[in-house]
Amino acid sequence: MNITDPWFTVTAITPDTFAISEYGHWEKVHSFLLLGDHKAVLIDTGLGIDNIKRVTDQLTNLPIDVITTHVHVDHIGSHGQFERIFVHEGDRDWLVHGIQGLTIEQIRKDMSRDITKPVPDSFDPSSFEPFRGAPAGLLHHGDVIDLGTRKLTIYHTPGHSPGHVSVFDHLRGFLFTGDLLYDETPIYAFYPSTSPEDLVRSLQEIADIPGVTMVYGSHNTLGLEPGILDEARSAAAYLLRHNLVSFGTGIHTFNGFSVQF
Ligand SMILES: [Zn+2]
Ligand SMILES: [Zn+2]
Repeated sequence: MNITDPWFTVTAITPDTFAISEYGHWEKVHSFLLLGDHKAVLIDTGLGIDNIKRVTDQLTNLPIDVITTHVHVDHIGSHGQFERIFVHEGDRDWLVHGIQGLTIEQIRKDMSRDITKPVPDSFDPSSFEPFRGAPAGLLHHGDVIDLGTRKLTIYHTPGHSPGHVSVFDHLRGFLFTGDLLYDETPIYAFYPSTSPEDLVRSLQEIADIPGVTMVYGSHNTLGLEPGILDEARSAAAYLLRHNLVSFGTGIHTFNGFSVQF
């Protein structure tokens, strides 16, 4: 299916797996739509500069459950367009009551800078408000989301945020790593709400998932070869061995990705 959209870039990874990317923004955010037999799952809803539902409506008629990798402003942008949103307990408070630790001025500044595509008239950076609302349900480590032939397993992978989750698609071998693992720009665990210790444990955890054919992070390059998981495993070992797993130790660069504590 070919979709041309002024803001979103749609990539058919497989006939039933779509990346919906926002290359017009410096964060280069990806959301992912996974079609099943009776329902679909949307992993994150993007920046909220434009309405992602316009795109998902063109891709499927199936009912959509939204899985939140974590509650940061660039992952919950169009949450308000969907009825059934799910989040891990660890990030539930921020979803319901708002994101803490960043002023609204900072959020608006980050949302509206370095944009290289025309934004819709509906986007006003001076009044932009991140989504707030109650989830339809909570995600737990080990939950299996049954889409029929397609089954997804939820991994609780905290560190970048307390309730961060990664999603493994058994049918395709795709591992969606949110902001736990992506390339090009540093993975952040330097805010008070982050935990370098948890992040390193989570990297070890995903490195041990068998059968991964491709890794999809939420930013930058779309699709990383599974060898990055071996690199994540050795990076975790290196950081632990050298006592670098704590706030203030800076940016640590590995083959294919970097982390900032
Ligand atoms: Zn994040
Ligand atoms: Zn992010």
